[in-house]
Amino acid sequence: MKIGALEAGGTKMVCAVGQEDGTILEQISIPTTTPEETIPRILSYFRGKEIEALGVAAFGPVDVKPDSPSYGHILDTPKVAWRHCDLLGQLKSALPIPMGLDTDVNGSCLGEMTYGCAKGLDSVIYITIGTGVGVGVCSGGKLVHGMLHPEGGHILLTRHPQDPKGGICPYHKNCLEGFACGPSIEARWGKKAADLKDAPLVWEIESYYIAQALTDYIMILSPQKIILGGGVMHQEQLFPLIRSKVKEFIGGYLNTPELNDLDNYIVPASLGGDQGIMGCIKLGLDALC
Ligand code: ADP
Ligand code: ZN
Repeated sequence: MKIGALEAGGTKMVCAVGQEDGTILEQISIPTTTPEETIPRILSYFRGKEIEALGVAAFGPVDVKPDSPSYGHILDTPKVAWRHCDLLGQLKSALPIPMGLDTDVNGSCLGEMTYGCAKGLDSVIYITIGTGVGVGVCSGGKLVHGMLHPEGGHILLTRHPQDPKGGICPYHKNCLEGFACGPSIEARWGKKAADLKDAPLVWEIESYYIAQALTDYIMILSPQKIILGGGVMHQEQLFPLIRSKVKEFIGGYLNTPELNDLDNYIVPASLGGDQGIMGCIKLGLDALC
């Protein structure tokens, strides 16, 4: 059985055809420009591929509540051309197959839970630290939406005493995304994050922010595993720094087998960058039932 997968990102649209076991048979990437230009290109890719369903994981904010009048619409995004675009509706009117939709980060979380390092677990969070920071949450086997969907990148944190710049989020002076996303690192140090590998203070500050956030997620959501992806997490030296600070911030208050094995609790994404598109395959499969 062939399933279509669309990872709808702010810079590119990854379109793929995959199978139930997560195998990706083929995939292409289309730059995200305007809906008028981009959606027809997505549709022309999927037409004639004999897919039985399509799973879509979209950048947000996006309406993921099936009973809402604006289900499948992109909401008030800074990407003006996509504001209030009925993404799912346009796909549905051209492709008469079942479709599943969730946020990009919930998609990656689902990919890891179905095909990756979080198989068999039911409460997992997936955090991407890249151009922005997003958090996908699965709790008790359900991807969490709530009133809209979690915006875990914008939780408020304490500024590091040696942070010379602070946060760059236009909405919040001291949120995780503003402090820790790739562009924030670049604004703070005047160099690309990828070129700062040998500057220890950069990663000391970065890990301080990420560890504060993880501690809060742990206290509120009690996840069984925390997966970290996105461009910034290519800096592998972050993992031990984050783990030791999480341990410090929890302060011995919790004592679980998971927290006593932090190397297997706070982990990198395991699917080599395909966690998002593989999550879309699962969203498509779930739309069939
Ligand atoms: P997006 O978030 O747009 O989907 P990415 O997850 O690739 O894309 O994140 C891009 C961000 O990650 C950029 O700000 C970039 O500076 C940063 N980045 C990419 N590669 C690295 C790296 N090797 N080390 C540190 N930061 C990186
Ligand atoms: Zn913010």
